[in-house]
Amino acid sequence: MTAPTLTLRSPADGTVLGETPITSAAEVHAASRRADEVFRSRVWSGRTPRERASVLLRLAELMARDAETLARLDCEDAGKPITECRENDVPSAIESIRWFAEAVDKQYGTTTASGPDVLAFTEREPFGVVAAILPWNYPLAMAAWKVGPALAAGNSLILKPADATPRSVQHLAALAAEAGLPDGVLQVLPGDGPTTGAALAEDPLIGALSFTGSTATGRTILAAAAASNLKRVSLEMGGKSPQILMDDALSFGNELIEGMVESAFLTSGQNCTAGSRILVHRSIHDEVVTRFAAAAAALRVGHPADPATQLGPVLTAAAARRMTDAVAQADREGATIVTGGTEIDVVPGGHYVAPTVVTGVAAGSAITRQELFGPIVTVQAFDTRDEAIALANDIPYGLAASVWTARLDDALALARGVEAGLVSVGTYSEGDLAVPFGGWKQSGFGGVEKSLRAFEQWTREKSIWIRHRP
Ligand code: ADP
Repeated sequence: MTAPTLTLRSPADGTVLGETPITSAAEVHAASRRADEVFRSRVWSGRTPRERASVLLRLAELMARDAETLARLDCEDAGKPITECRENDVPSAIESIRWFAEAVDKQYGTTTASGPDVLAFTEREPFGVVAAILPWNYPLAMAAWKVGPALAAGNSLILKPADATPRSVQHLAALAAEAGLPDGVLQVLPGDGPTTGAALAEDPLIGALSFTGSTATGRTILAAAAASNLKRVSLEMGGKSPQILMDDALSFGNELIEGMVESAFLTSGQNCTAGSRILVHRSIHDEVVTRFAAAAAALRVGHPADPATQLGPVLTAAAARRMTDAVAQADREGATIVTGGTEIDVVPGGHYVAPTVVTGVAAGSAITRQELFGPIVTVQAFDTRDEAIALANDIPYGLAASVWTARLDDALALARGVEAGLVSVGTYSEGDLAVPFGGWKQSGFGGVEKSLRAFEQWTREKSIWIRHRP
């Protein structure tokens, strides 16, 4: 019997890019046993943090050497514009590996004030076997957020790339081997969710599992962890993030519209922090809609391999359908489709959804609450700051928000009032690597990415109490 495989298809034009095996449950469990042996052999975990850092820094150099290959693989598999892969995803992945390598020996435990006959201290130790289940929208960049701290801390890591996007992650693992990472410390298991992902979630040896993907899958993983070995689970999930514009927002000039467009349409809006809900003060609503819709309509939609392309395809026909159905539903409810709303025929075999701006949506309507994961943006007007906060928080998600006002009091009141793990003011940004990234409400659970805090996902704290005779 031949092993089951997944056919990788280009989201750009439907051509077949290759076949990839679906790693079976038995193979997943064999991989975790192997990772456990490698961990216990201390071939990696027994090295000093600086020795591990030097291998990871070498990995970062090799990623820079192969940057174009890595960019091309994510562009082909995920349909992301090549310019975005070259200028954003690959450099930021390299930077993540570097940052965590440099950070690993710059952390300290604690000692306690327990008395003259005791030395008590805490330290953080690696789990041993850990795993990450990855999304398809930032295949390499999300892998790097996990690989950096997990390996720097001394774990053996199993990565499951998303079904459609294994190739940049596989190339990353090959580069890690070239950099000197011992065999078996990093294993990449391609496959699908129900087979490979589910087997990881219920594996008895995996001590910590980090997931980035949809809220529905996050729930399933959490239940599987609870039913198996109670592995520590960290979840980064969906969002429906607001962009809040106070009445002075136009004072930011072009930066405002450029920031809004980036927030809404980066990776065709297939971005968990995408600012897909614009909340704007009524006094500037019409002008903002006119300028934003014009900028959205002017985006160059095209084949992702074309360096001029700003907006590529969405991943699948089903995803495109979900988006156009939601817009059609809003239309039936009386909303106004200012621009877009349909698929456009850009490249045969691909699914390209026009940048879409919808106004006049009823509060609480589906299009303002459902994560569509595409280039669909709604605009709602408000009159007061409190109303803006209430609208911003009227969703089950709490990942990110951006706030546009130059008034400090409003900026802080909004930043503090919005229920989200990350708020940017006067810009759209997720911040640099020193800034923790984690969602609130149904966007996040159990840990954060980036910053020194990311090491907490991949290590556990031990208290050591030593009695001695003074
Ligand atoms: P999307 O809907 O955007 O594809 P998912 O949350 O389904 O997002 O996928 C994110 C990752 O989770 C992928 O690597 C996918 O294979 C994996 N996955 C999907 N279903 C499961 C599951 N039941 N258990 C574990 N992993 C899963």
